[in-house]
Amino acid sequence: MSKIKELLLIKYIKRLLEKTKSLLKSLKFRIFIVMIICGIIPVIMLEVTILKPIEDEMVASKMDRLLSQCNILRNHIISENYIELRQSDAIDAEMAQLSAMYDGRVMLINSDFVIVKDTYVMDENKTCVSTDVIKGYRGENVSKYVSENNYIEIVMPITGYEKKTIGVMLVTFSTNDVKIALENLEDKMALIRIIISLLVMVVSMLVSVFFVKPFDRLKKSFEKVSEGYFDNKLELNGYTEIENIAKSYNDMLDKMKKLDESRQEFVSNVSHELKTPITSIKVLADSLMMQDDIPNEIYKEFFVDIVNEIDRENEIITDLLDLVRLDKKNANLNITRLNINELVELILKRLRPIAAKRNIEIVLESFRPIEADVDEVKITSAISNLVENAIKYNIIDGWVRVTLNADHKYFYIKVADSGIGIPEESREMVFERFYRVDKTRARETGGTGLGLAITKNIIQLHNGAVKVYSKEGEGTTFTVRIPLNYVNL
Ligand code: ADP
Repeated sequence: MSKIKELLLIKYIKRLLEKTKSLLKSLKFRIFIVMIICGIIPVIMLEVTILKPIEDEMVASKMDRLLSQCNILRNHIISENYIELRQSDAIDAEMAQLSAMYDGRVMLINSDFVIVKDTYVMDENKTCVSTDVIKGYRGENVSKYVSENNYIEIVMPITGYEKKTIGVMLVTFSTNDVKIALENLEDKMALIRIIISLLVMVVSMLVSVFFVKPFDRLKKSFEKVSEGYFDNKLELNGYTEIENIAKSYNDMLDKMKKLDESRQEFVSNVSHELKTPITSIKVLADSLMMQDDIPNEIYKEFFVDIVNEIDRENEIITDLLDLVRLDKKNANLNITRLNINELVELILKRLRPIAAKRNIEIVLESFRPIEADVDEVKITSAISNLVENAIKYNIIDGWVRVTLNADHKYFYIKVADSGIGIPEESREMVFERFYRVDKTRARETGGTGLGLAITKNIIQLHNGAVKVYSKEGEGTTFTVRIPLNYVNL
């Protein structure tokens, strides 16, 4: 065989083995096997449970008949004293008839264990000693079925003067008729077994294919989704389990679709946000280039604007990088045990001058000393952002109230302001990336729309939660809850 042929053969065998392995592991095959076992075992059991009692019943009824016939013969033998005299044509005829009718052999044995009469003649005058014959001499009746050799044996004592046992009648009957009847029955049952087995196999095959069909449809649908069709909803009905899988799968699809949409929206938002300052810089630079002899002050003014735009671009990029770092599953937290009261006081000390510019008063209410496991830099940035917003979106002469409290499990920070408030429809959106309630004011206030998204991420990384309560025109309150002890979940 050439090398190529050999390689092809090995490849073919390998593929065949793989296919066999996957078939053996398949649900279809397992259902098929279970069905076959459930269908065929009862048939085999039926055979065993039916044949044996039938055999017993047939032997018992034959035995009854034989015993009564033997009894009649024995009585005649006793009354005619046949053992000693051996002269009765009637008994000879009776014995011959019994042997012929039931395919048997009658032997009479005298007290010296000598066979005095044998319907087969051949063993006459020979000695016969067996346990059953001895039992007969002791006056016992013996009747037994020897199934392996197919005969029934009956031993009866023959009594003489004063009921003394003077001999034994030993009769053996063939049970070939029982055997043949049973063999016939077995043949019929074998035929039934073959028919039932074939039926079971066909039904098992159909059932296994039927049961596995929804899984095939499931697989096809999964394949379509992996090609990127998120709209491909599964509509599988059949059994509850499959319906549940289809439901969970559709839910997952919805989530994936939302994720995909939000990713696309994020990318387009990022591009837009990054483009805006660059467009402004270009417009400013172009207008400078197009004019000659521009006075120095105008130059300076334009450059101040250009620097502002560059700062803004820088701010957006820094926030975006923060967000990306926090989004990672294992954003590195540098956890230390800190005094939260001191931390908040420091933040407020830094922000008070900014608030003072708009005559906004910042008040701190601390109800108890708090020590907690936090990442100092990140938690400072989160709280600062909430207080900065409370100043930014406030009215002139307004106030900001920061409240600190704790119980045995969590510490709570509340940042309330007397500012413009957030309209109801925007309340849940403020934590989304780039979301701003008033897009036109963004330039004035200088926000990137990423602050609250970053804040929420930081709080969640600390296994905490943040909520917003607000009334338009009256003010806003952010509440933060963080566990005192950090657990890496
Ligand atoms: P920004 O950089 O625009 O401040 P944030 O993510 O911090 O971005 O906030 C998102 C938006 O939520 C803001 O643009 C503002 O419209 C609204 N907002 C946040 N904090 C307050 C507040 N204390 N009062 C009123 N509106 C607020």
